[in-house]
Amino acid sequence: MLSRDDVFSELGIGPAWRLRETLPASRAPLVAPQSPSYTWDQLADAVAHCTACKLSATRTQGVLGVGDRNADWLIIGEAPGADEDRIGEPFVGQAGKLLDAMLASIGLRRGDNVYIANVLKSRPPGNRNPEPDEVAACRPYLLAQIELIRPKLILALGRFAAQSLLDTDEAISRLRGRVHQFQNVPLVVTYHPAYLLRNLPDKARAWEDLCLARRTMQALVTA
Ligand code: SF4
Repeated sequence: MLSRDDVFSELGIGPAWRLRETLPASRAPLVAPQSPSYTWDQLADAVAHCTACKLSATRTQGVLGVGDRNADWLIIGEAPGADEDRIGEPFVGQAGKLLDAMLASIGLRRGDNVYIANVLKSRPPGNRNPEPDEVAACRPYLLAQIELIRPKLILALGRFAAQSLLDTDEAISRLRGRVHQFQNVPLVVTYHPAYLLRNLPDKARAWEDLCLARRTMQALVTA
């Protein structure tokens, strides 16, 4: 039987991805020791009442996440959009429908062994890009989610989520196609569904990413 390290080795995850430290605070990776321990109720309450960054002044509500709290799959996007801010659930609307279709293509369903969250829990006004201080302020909530869920695999959707989680400026085209690691959890990068709605030819590449994620999960489950 393969050990977890054997699986990582098979998947091409090298030690460099396991040791990300001593970076400047503004670029610090999302490391567990900064994360307080929460129960789910405490976490939901904290996000609902959070005023740790300026987005609290413009959001309708904090959007913690949705799905199976014991999921093997953790899907992480960028931040709530207008619909998500209004409804209180990540990935609704057209992008949400496409995400559901992407999940279905590899035999997954929202809420069934899948949890969906964002790097930021509050909507940036006008859907502008998240700012570094906002990401830093929201970091403990994402870490707490990972601590609670203990997923087997993370699927990062889009450039922003991938770069934030992996603490890199590399283009998404260079981050795709390999298995990274975040918080000791294998991580695969693919395009954000909202991007794919505008760039249909890249759907084929997203399919390749989903297949990589599925293969990775199968290897982990087998191990
Ligand atoms: S984005 Fe995160 S840190 Fe900022 S107000 Fe919302 S929950 Fe708090």
